[in-house]
Amino acid sequence: MAAEDGLIGSGLKPALMPSARVKALSKGLWRGALDLVFPPHALDGGPAAQAGGLSVETWSRVHFLDGPVCDGCGAPFEYDQGPDLNGNRARCAPCMARPRAFAAARAACLYDDASREPILKLKHADRPDLAGLFALWLGRAARELIAEADAVAPVPLHPLRLLRRRYNQAAEIARPLARREGLIYLPDALVRRRATQSQAGKSGSGRRRNVAAAFEVPAAKRSLVEGKRILLIDDVMTTGATAEGCARALKTAGAARVDVAVVARVKEMAGLTI
Ligand SMILES: [Zn+2]
Repeated sequence: MAAEDGLIGSGLKPALMPSARVKALSKGLWRGALDLVFPPHALDGGPAAQAGGLSVETWSRVHFLDGPVCDGCGAPFEYDQGPDLNGNRARCAPCMARPRAFAAARAACLYDDASREPILKLKHADRPDLAGLFALWLGRAARELIAEADAVAPVPLHPLRLLRRRYNQAAEIARPLARREGLIYLPDALVRRRATQSQAGKSGSGRRRNVAAAFEVPAAKRSLVEGKRILLIDDVMTTGATAEGCARALKTAGAARVDVAVVARVKEMAGLTI
């Protein structure tokens, strides 16, 4: 994708490109690939190692969702199911049974013991430097959705919570992702109208009730959203209720389509389909 963008941006076909530029481009791509696999600095507080960003120990335990996944919710499939009879990408049974406000979702990894620690460090321990690494992960996991997107919007925090925490972890991930991919960044198109109670311990239906009416696109921001295909960014997806609430608000405001990209998702999202 980056290669294609670069070529399009240069206005040159590969065969016409000066060899120095080709070399520089391929070197940059190689460097980018290395940074993705071996990020340059250990950011998670683990023992320093040749592979930075995360310690090698943490990195090796993260369950990346590199294989086939459900197009609707990003759930991992045991094997590649291929397209359906209409040529659409395969979806899991819950996604086929009940379409959601968001069209497709991708997660970079499973939310488990390995990924929880760096994600919580970004969310609660003032480690915004991890957000750049997560943005790289999303750039890979959601590349098909990014290729079709016009704009990137983070799931918003309620202003009071933002005041307490000082930054929105979803925005910290969305901003470098938008910049890197050349997409419009919409940090405040979506607002959280009321402080939702903690989601912890709530059932899927309870979470949905909790967030159903919490999100809104202010009238003054509607023109930013209308007709756009928007990629919604969050750190973790559990039941999908938050993504659903945000997608509904964006579509109500006129968004053409909403997709979702998250750093991590739980393996089973049982409450999502009720
Ligand atoms: Zn699914």
